[in-house]
Amino acid sequence: MTSESTLPLVPRVLVVEDEPDIAALIAYQLTREGFRVETVGSGPDALAAIDRELPHLVVLDRMLPGLSGDEVLLRIRSEPSTAKVPVLVLTARREQEDRIEGLQLGADDYLTKPFSPRELVLRAHAILRRMHGTESSPGGRVFRAGPIRVDIGAHRAELNGVELDLTPTEFRLLRALIERPGRTQSRRQLLEKAWAVEPGVSDRLHTRTVDMHVRRLRAKLGVGGRWIQTVRGFGYRLKVPEGIE
Ligand code: CA
Repeated sequence: MTSESTLPLVPRVLVVEDEPDIAALIAYQLTREGFRVETVGSGPDALAAIDRELPHLVVLDRMLPGLSGDEVLLRIRSEPSTAKVPVLVLTARREQEDRIEGLQLGADDYLTKPFSPRELVLRAHAILRRMHGTESSPGGRVFRAGPIRVDIGAHRAELNGVELDLTPTEFRLLRALIERPGRTQSRRQLLEKAWAVEPGVSDRLHTRTVDMHVRRLRAKLGVGGRWIQTVRGFGYRLKVPEGIE
């Protein structure tokens, strides 16, 4: 039932774009999809951010102040510690030669402005799938527990075949639970998975956040809400009784 991957539930994306409106649009769309997004507006800031914490994906505009996107990409690829980070390049130029040039520089994919935010999100998912090999088919990994079905690739959760209207956080919480059916997970573990809270950070308020979202998720699961069981003093587990399908 479980499938291990090095890709966390909340991948970090570094967006390098000096045009504030475009940067904000990209950040908004990726955040809605459940990514953790950091935005910087220049080449040197991009390299500094990558140096601080290696992202799972870089969305890199070519036209940047300080250092060009191409130069940033070259530096990323020439530094062993960052060489493998996937990079999605944005360009305002339309020429085919630029596309080839960018791919030769080591971009994993390419988008020409203006692009649709939806297209960007699909490309981002596709790159991460390729990089981390989490999904062998476009359908992606699917987890089932009784009548609950969670399709990771499609970002879709269903109960008895009816799509659940979940927020990104509720989706990640349900995913964290259904990936380990029947196993109790602490609030801390759920925080790390569904909220990308760093291990070791202790905050009682944060654990109450888990409780609140579990309540909301239970409500959305209706009669199935009781299958998210509270394990007193420890955390939660998802357990669908045998015979329920
Ligand atoms: Ca730009």
